Amino acid sequence: MTKEGFTLWFTGLSGAGKTTIAKLVESLLLDKMNVPVQLLDGDLLREVINQDLGFSKEDRMKQIKCAVFMTRLLNKNGVHVLASFITPYEEMRQYCCSHIPNYHEIFVDCSLEECIQRDVKGLYKKAIAGQINQFTGISDPFETPLGPDLILDTVTEFPEESAEKVLSYIVEKQLI
Ligand code: ADP
Repeated sequence: MTKEGFTLWFTGLSGAGKTTIAKLVESLLLDKMNVPVQLLDGDLLREVINQDLGFSKEDRMKQIKCAVFMTRLLNKNGVHVLASFITPYEEMRQYCCSHIPNYHEIFVDCSLEECIQRDVKGLYKKAIAGQINQFTGISDPFETPLGPDLILDTVTEFPEESAEKVLSYIVEKQLI
């Protein structure tokens, strides 16, 4: 029987560094250690499957449910998942936790000020100018995770340092 995979669920503001760190972890696991892993990215999921979804709480929940469904399929087939989703509400994270058997929550912690400063996708500028509604951190809430398994402070850490911390966590918890 295939051993069920684990899931590292990266939550945090847009631009906090979820995808950057998840990609580094993916490459460490896949390229260096030959561990089967799949990165699931919120932006990509919206682009290819959930184009019809907006950013209301209901639509955000649909997006998360879709991601959880895919994650379950992968995990069941022995593939580990690195999920990069803002997941702004504790209720959503609880949903993930209760539906994914081997779930580990990683809070990619970055101050709103720093995210605005980085503004990788130029979205904060637009949100502040009122051109985008329901933007997390500006016109929509981000509830601080209540019980993350790991916190990465991306204001003070380099992405490589954060990725190493994730790897240490994986080893420490004997996930691989
Ligand atoms: P998210 O997936 O959370 O929306 P991204 O990973 O797409 O965020 O973007 C984060 C941006 O911040 C990238 O351009 C990355 O290079 C930059 N960055 C700066 N410092 C860090 C850090 N310590 N950890 C992760 N990303 C960082």
